[in-house]
Amino acid sequence: MMHVAIVGGGLAGFSCAQEVRRGDPQARITIVDPQGAPYDRPPLSKEYLTGEMPRDKVFFHDEQWFAEQRIALVTDAVTRLDLAGLTVELDGGESLTVDRVVLATGGRARQLPIRGGDLAGLLSLRTLDDADRLRAALVPGRRLAIVGAGLVGAEVASTAVASGVEVTLVDPVETPLLAAAGALVAGRLHAMHAAHGVRVIRAAIERIEALPPTSPSLDPRSPSLDPRSPSLSRGYRLRLSDGSTLAADDVLLAVGLVPDDGLAREAGLECEDGILVDRAQRTSHPHVLAVGDVTRRRAEGTSGIRHEHWEAAMRSGHTAAAALLGTDLPNHGASWWWSDRYGVHAEGLGDLGTGSSVVRELGDGAVVDFRLADEGRLLGAAAIDAPRVVRAARRLMDAGIPVTAEDLADPSVDLRKLGR
Ligand SMILES: Cc1cc2nc3c(=O)[nH]c(=O)nc-3n(C[C@H](O)[C@H](O)[C@H](O)COP(=O)(O)OP(=O)(O)OC[C@H]3O[C@@H](n4cnc5c(N)ncnc54)[C@H](O)[C@@H]3O)c2cc1C
Repeated sequence: MMHVAIVGGGLAGFSCAQEVRRGDPQARITIVDPQGAPYDRPPLSKEYLTGEMPRDKVFFHDEQWFAEQRIALVTDAVTRLDLAGLTVELDGGESLTVDRVVLATGGRARQLPIRGGDLAGLLSLRTLDDADRLRAALVPGRRLAIVGAGLVGAEVASTAVASGVEVTLVDPVETPLLAAAGALVAGRLHAMHAAHGVRVIRAAIERIEALPPTSPSLDPRSPSLDPRSPSLSRGYRLRLSDGSTLAADDVLLAVGLVPDDGLAREAGLECEDGILVDRAQRTSHPHVLAVGDVTRRRAEGTSGIRHEHWEAAMRSGHTAAAALLGTDLPNHGASWWWSDRYGVHAEGLGDLGTGSSVVRELGDGAVVDFRLADEGRLLGAAAIDAPRVVRAARRLMDAGIPVTAEDLADPSVDLRKLGR
């Protein structure tokens, strides 16, 4: 009977556990995560942050489900992976010796390498606890500076401004999400911030200072007071690359993710800004696999790809499960991501970096920007509020069915029919 230890209970680790159980009723499966039961991340910048989704709904399943599935949950951190004996050592002192290890440690929010970038009280958003801290700051009239206008920063800006928070979004890039969504869709999405009352500043942050308290009872000269403590702070002053300053009560750093590949590196597995894996999610050790945001897929001629999206994490878990079970690897087709902000649904499919652009306008702000190769092969698409068209485009792409630019651009042409 195979015993698999899954290190990390995010979407990737959870999906792997679920599929291994589906394929092997006998396998011993243990998920180790210091955060406890597996939960989902997308609601943390959306429905959970607004308060619409209750906390228990963020979890994939309750503990009874895991007990019924005989998937053991260990609430602890893995501190070391011993490849010789295939043993994972836990922070609490215990260790597990297993037949296979799946590393699913995801990533942590990137810090800014600037003065003040590590001040206490600065917010980030990766975990449920982070979301609770951010939620507490979403009070009407408070000033929130969001550093980074990527997927997470943009969604929080939308949620926060709708809660009555004064939001300033700072990013040095003219059009964030360009690589993932292409110029047209990325540009329209970014323009929504200003249209909804978010102040957008195009600049880099050079320094963050905690403002000292004003209350006479809290004398900042007192040696017992740490001016870095958030409870004593009046907020922050951000110095920007354009020479201006920005005052904020709260600062969210949303500048991307650093893959949590420390365990793998220390164990001697091949890593390069993420754990390197092959198409079966195998690392450089035959009995250790890795899945989700922490991985980078080896690709010929490139340093590899790291997808930091929900579906990619789930699919990698399914692929690893197939590799563990010795069944055929699933054929996943084009990659896909989505984002919700300001009441619109944005999606990206496949590769937006090549091919020629063909635009389909659907009215009321809905649009699809396709990428088409010369021979009529669909390479990718980005869209706002066009889920049916994206679904049809995905089928065409996955089936390799050629299309014409005229059909793509014409909103009266039903792409689903072309796929039949
Ligand atoms: C706020 C937010 C919103 C998002 N919204 C979208 C969206 O709208 N659309 C989309 O496509 N994608 C979205 N994503 C991305 C998507 O959720 C991630 O790609 C996905 O969660 C990655 O899953 P993962 O399992 O690889 O990593 P994670 O979810 O990060 O899980 C990793 C787990 O590993 C654990 N861990 C780390 N180190 C150890 C250790 N030493 N021992 C044991 N456990 C450890 C951590 O505690 C964590 O629970 C969003 C992400 C965030 C953070």
